[in-house]
Amino acid sequence: MGPPGAGKGTQAKVIAQRLAVPAVSTGDIFRVNVTQRTELGREAKRYMDAGDYVPDAITNAMVRARLAEPDAADGFLLDGYPRTVSQVEELDSMLAERGSGLDAVLLLTVDRDEVVERLARRARDEGRADDTVEVIGHRQDVYADQTAPLVEVYDGRGLLVRVDGMGPVDEVTSRVLRVLDQAGAAAS
Ligand code: AMP
Repeated sequence: MGPPGAGKGTQAKVIAQRLAVPAVSTGDIFRVNVTQRTELGREAKRYMDAGDYVPDAITNAMVRARLAEPDAADGFLLDGYPRTVSQVEELDSMLAERGSGLDAVLLLTVDRDEVVERLARRARDEGRADDTVEVIGHRQDVYADQTAPLVEVYDGRGLLVRVDGMGPVDEVTSRVLRVLDQAGAAAS
């Protein structure tokens, strides 16, 4: 978890590789579908471009299908999911059905100015349609409104680990691996 621009996607790819599990990024899956002009992509695009969340029913079904793939059988790292209370409930039931649970929920903490600057840089480098100044601001608000409350939920379950997301990527990765190890969540 972490606000847009906290570095979730960047860290997810590195950490998943280190833990030898697939990184399941809902944002990436939506973007691939948009590029390939699938039905899902067409549906998701209008929400993404506006900086809004794709409806839970669509997102949950997509994650359910992805986690049923064989490479996720022994573990996975979720990036950008769950983002709403309803997604937490749906993930709980998916995990209960497979008789497993989350090892840890990682929260990347960053300061707002740094995040906005990172997003503006990414807009230039990657040309993402949802990285305009207006949409960046809206996405921060949506996160604060719908996703930030999930921090409490997972903290209450004793799963939350907070990691300082500021600084160079490899330093943040080292911090993440250290805390996951302490939380008993990292593969040895
Ligand atoms: P991200 O790359 O994680 O920032 O996601 C980009 C966009 O994809 C978000 O702004 C949402 O429109 C959509 N999205 C990604 N994950 C979710 C999710 N868990 N629930 C709803 N929408 C999502």
